[in-house]
Amino acid sequence: PLTGLANARVDIMSALVSFDRVFEILDLKPLIAEKESPTSLPKGPLAVEFNDVRFAYPAADKVSLASLEDVAVLDNRGGDDVLHGISFRAEPGQTIALVGSSGAGKSTIAQLLSRLYDVDSGTVRLGGVDVRDLSFDGLRAGVGMVTQDGHLFHESIRSNLRLAKPDATDAEIWDVLKRSRLEAFALALPDGLDTVVGERGYRLSGGERQRLTIARLLLVQPAVVILDEATAALDSTNEAAVQAALGEALEGRTALVIAHRLSTIRSADVILVLEAGRIVEQGTHDELIVRGGRYAELHDTQFAQAVAAVSEAAVPEEN
Ligand code: ADP
Ligand code: MG
Repeated sequence: PLTGLANARVDIMSALVSFDRVFEILDLKPLIAEKESPTSLPKGPLAVEFNDVRFAYPAADKVSLASLEDVAVLDNRGGDDVLHGISFRAEPGQTIALVGSSGAGKSTIAQLLSRLYDVDSGTVRLGGVDVRDLSFDGLRAGVGMVTQDGHLFHESIRSNLRLAKPDATDAEIWDVLKRSRLEAFALALPDGLDTVVGERGYRLSGGERQRLTIARLLLVQPAVVILDEATAALDSTNEAAVQAALGEALEGRTALVIAHRLSTIRSADVILVLEAGRIVEQGTHDELIVRGGRYAELHDTQFAQAVAAVSEAAVPEEN
């Protein structure tokens, strides 16, 4: 049950829900604490910086349901290190792509940037400010995450979106639905914005759920966007709509993209190749291909098929 809870926590928090609200709903105490006199978020597009970050997940065997009451117990480390000294920097407005095999630590980096956990050593900075010094409001306005499978509550579309911005007006909601290519979908709903979605509610397709997550993100307009790119195949209509919505979400923002799509990786300003919690290569697509190392190898095995499909169909490259 604890693994389930931990995952729910990540799902919900990554859906840009207000921290306080989440812990109220789940009746949980957060693993992280807001500093007493926190710093507010610097203005404008922000740089992202990891400096020699080491991290281990809290050891599962040290956590019991009873200890959920006790932040100190949950904060005990003891698991094996998952990140062994990660350093990189994204300039304001740049896109960084993270690639590497499953379990390499990509999602962990995303979670540390959103401060779902605190680092064991090293620093994570947003606009030059240590994320541990930022106010929770600043953090929420600073970093937004789009996951493959946005979490929805068994509540109306309006309530699901307002979790990201409690005072959002219907006009604002329609605006973000339009920008995330959900306007036609929402207009066709039986009860409009009052339609109840989620597990036992109106069933949404994967692509629709994902776009609703993007709509939430557009309501908050975070300075930095994290995208855990979908590997699951969406049908081509949904795929195009999701790509268009993502274009809106990434526009003018610093982005950390866990990338599976060749077009996203190619157009990234920097590619980080991760292996077992370490950055083994970094550079642009062209640099890394010329280098002929791990990226070139990944590229050959993982993307050869995609490249063949693209050139066969003579489809122009995205971006
Ligand atoms: P990736 O996203 O590159 O596939 P992750 O960052 O999800 O990799 O995982 C890195 C390592 O951390 C893996 O060994 C994984 O098993 C472990 N891990 C991920 N999430 C947790 C968690 N909540 N608790 C304990 N270990 C975890
Ligand atoms: Mg992952």
